[in-house]
Amino acid sequence: MPEIHAKLSASGAKRWLTCPGSVRLEEGFEDSSSVFAEEGTAAHTLSEYKLLHQTGKISKLAYTKRYNKFKRENEHYSKSMDDYTDDYVSYVLEQYNAYPNAFIELEKRVDFSRWVPEGFGTSDVVIISEGVLEVIDLKYGKGVAVSAEENPQAMLYGLGAYNEYDMLYDFEKVRMTIVQPRLDDTSTYEVTLDELLAWGDEFVKPRAELAASGEGDCVPSEDGCRFCKAKAVCKARAEKNLETARHDFDEEPGKLSKEEISEILLQAPEIKKWIEHVETYALEQARDHGENFPDMKLVEGRSNRVITDKDKAADLLHDAGQTDIFKPRELLAITKLEKAIGKEIFNEVLSDLIIKPPGKPALVSVKDKRPELNSLASAIDDFEDDLL
Ligand code: SF4
Repeated sequence: MPEIHAKLSASGAKRWLTCPGSVRLEEGFEDSSSVFAEEGTAAHTLSEYKLLHQTGKISKLAYTKRYNKFKRENEHYSKSMDDYTDDYVSYVLEQYNAYPNAFIELEKRVDFSRWVPEGFGTSDVVIISEGVLEVIDLKYGKGVAVSAEENPQAMLYGLGAYNEYDMLYDFEKVRMTIVQPRLDDTSTYEVTLDELLAWGDEFVKPRAELAASGEGDCVPSEDGCRFCKAKAVCKARAEKNLETARHDFDEEPGKLSKEEISEILLQAPEIKKWIEHVETYALEQARDHGENFPDMKLVEGRSNRVITDKDKAADLLHDAGQTDIFKPRELLAITKLEKAIGKEIFNEVLSDLIIKPPGKPALVSVKDKRPELNSLASAIDDFEDDLL
C-alpha cells in the first residue's frame, strides 16, 4: 500500500492511537471549522497577548495596542472571555513563579517526529525549570471536561518539549496540565521522564508508524469515532452499530427482558449519534454536491410562516387598534447574559439569584459519574428502616 502522507496530529492522537486505519480513511476530507473552534482560537490569542505582557516579553504599550485592536475587531471577544482568560493567565503565572529559575515559552512549536512521523504541534505554554518540564494547554470549550490524566495530546506535547530542551536541561519529571476556565476545571498529570519516554517508544511509535503506513485496521470506539472525519462513511463503525442492532435476543418470543432493555439502552446513544452523522453527511452530499442515493430523493423540508417586516407589521397592528402584540420583555439566557456582562459582574450581582434545579431523572450506564438517585424501591426501604 502506498505511503500516506498523513497528518498525525496531537489533537487526533486519541483516535489514531486506537484506530490506525482512520488516517487512511480520513484522506480527502477537508478540515472543517466551527464557530466554537474560532472562539477557542480567539481565546488563545487573547491569552497569549496577556501572557506576553505579564512575562515581560512585550511592553505595556505593545500589549495595550494589541489588546484594544483585538477587542475592537474580533467578533468573538466578550467581557466573559476577558475574565476567563484572566483566570487562565493567573494560573499559568502562578505555576511559572512557583518554579525556581524557570523560563517560559508561549505558543511553542514542538516537534515529536521522533515518535510520530512528521509529528509536530503547538503547545500553548511550556515552562522549563531545573528537573521539571511542564506543558500547559488551554481548552476554552465548555462542553466536556477534558482530563490531563493519560491524555495523549498533552503527552505528545510533553515529548515534543522534552525533545526541544533535553540538550540543555536534565529533566526528571514532566507535568502536563489542561486548564478549562469555563468549567472551572484544571487537571495535571505528572510522570517521570522515563515513563513518558517509555510510552513514546513502546506505545506511540509502533502505532504511529502503522497509522502513517496506511496499513492499520479501523477500530471503532466512542472516543475515537466522535471526532473522526470519516465517521459517517466508515464501514467498521457501521458494522459495529448494525451488529448491535441485529443482536440475537433470547429465543423465547414475547417481551424483552430487563437485561435486553438495558443492552438496547446502553447502545442507543452511540447508534443515535451514528445515524445523525450519516444523515447529515448524506444530506450535505445530496444538497451541495448533487449526489444521488438509491431509493432516496431531495425534497423541500417543512417550514413555518414568517413575518417579513416586523416593524411594519407592528405599525399596522397598532393602527388597527391591537395592543397585545409584543412578547413580554425577558432577560437574556444565562450563558448569553454572562457573556455580555462578564463573569465577575454576573457573579457579584446575581450569585444569590442563581440556582441549579435538579435535572429530570435519566436512566444511564452504571459507569456514569453522577451519583445514583434514590429509586422508589430504595425510598420505601429507607422509609421502612426509619420505622424500625
Ligand atoms: S469512524 Fe471510527 S472506526 Fe471508522 S475510521 Fe474513524 S475512528 Fe476509525
